Amino acid sequence: MERALNFNAGPAALPKEVLLEAQKNMLNFNGTGMGVMELSHRSKPYEEVHHSAKALLKQLLNISDDYDVLFLQGGASLQFSMIPMNLLTEDKIGCYVLSGSWSEKALKEAQKIGRTEIIASSKEQGFKDIPELNTENIDPNAAYVHITSNNTIFGTQWQSFPEVNVPLVADMSSDILSRPFDVNHFGLIYAGAQKNLGPSGVTVVIIKKDLLSRSSDQLPTMLNYQIQAKNDSLYNTPPTLAIYLLKLVLEWAAAQGGVEKIAKVNEEKAKILYDAIDESEGFYIGYAGKNSRSKMNVTFNLQTDELNKAFLAQAKEAGFVGVNGHRSVGGCRASIYNAVPIENVEKLAKFMKEFKAKY
Ligand SMILES: *Cc1c(COP(=O)(O)O)cnc(C)c1O
Repeated sequence: MERALNFNAGPAALPKEVLLEAQKNMLNFNGTGMGVMELSHRSKPYEEVHHSAKALLKQLLNISDDYDVLFLQGGASLQFSMIPMNLLTEDKIGCYVLSGSWSEKALKEAQKIGRTEIIASSKEQGFKDIPELNTENIDPNAAYVHITSNNTIFGTQWQSFPEVNVPLVADMSSDILSRPFDVNHFGLIYAGAQKNLGPSGVTVVIIKKDLLSRSSDQLPTMLNYQIQAKNDSLYNTPPTLAIYLLKLVLEWAAAQGGVEKIAKVNEEKAKILYDAIDESEGFYIGYAGKNSRSKMNVTFNLQTDELNKAFLAQAKEAGFVGVNGHRSVGGCRASIYNAVPIENVEKLAKFMKEFKAKY
């Protein structure tokens, strides 16, 4: 069977090699006579999976021993709550940059926990750009500054990260592992796995160890970073199958030559689609401001609703999956995460050109 031309925003395409490897081991993992999801999470073979996933991520992202890597559940969305619950102590302020729907959701949860402040926003411009952030105005009493590195829905991405003198917290759900960056710049990074790291069900949290002391004993155990870290994310049963697949995706990423190599391909992929938009003489209209364009989610519109509809219907017929924009904004969006092959991106660009010629 042919694989779909998958441009889903998340859950999204996984590398074919990863799926084949998982399939091969489904009934008998490493001679155990059991699939990974049948193993005890306290057994040696599972522990090896758990620890090599962690070690691989540390290696790929160059994560120093000043940080802990956690594998949690509840998606990136639970982190919207866990971050303020653990880090936003009573005397402090959680500072948020609003750059899209996910950052708004993160703020909304923090408002239930403590004091917050919006320190920059591009909401009034329809989130077409990453907002300008004046770091001088950040309250020295801030608990942290929260940003969303890639705005999955609007298709914008921070091109470089702000220098702040309080812990920088980043939702990297939709661009982690897609480009090199310096982890040391951050206090906490989190990412639901289902875009660039694996299947849904596991959320990666990279937290600077010195922040763990902020977690109060009064927190629910499962929501306490310090306890999760102390127990190596094995306080309770972790999502073992999701972590196994994460490990396979990380091995795949290493085999591609690591993050820098992957970033090069991602740049090429994004350029193919943005060129198709820019060279269309206004037939396709990119949503994001040019200086804020995402290399992961390419958002665009056609001139009318009818054209948008016709484009999406014919794209679907031609075998392209997931090209419709998010239900909250409409239009078109092609998500081109690490696992989306460049050939599929070329096919989409070709389809865009042919569609334009027809209309
Ligand atoms: C998908 C996404 C989320 C939501 O992730 P869940 O795992 O579904 O909670 C949050 N933030 C960003 C940037 C996303 O792309």
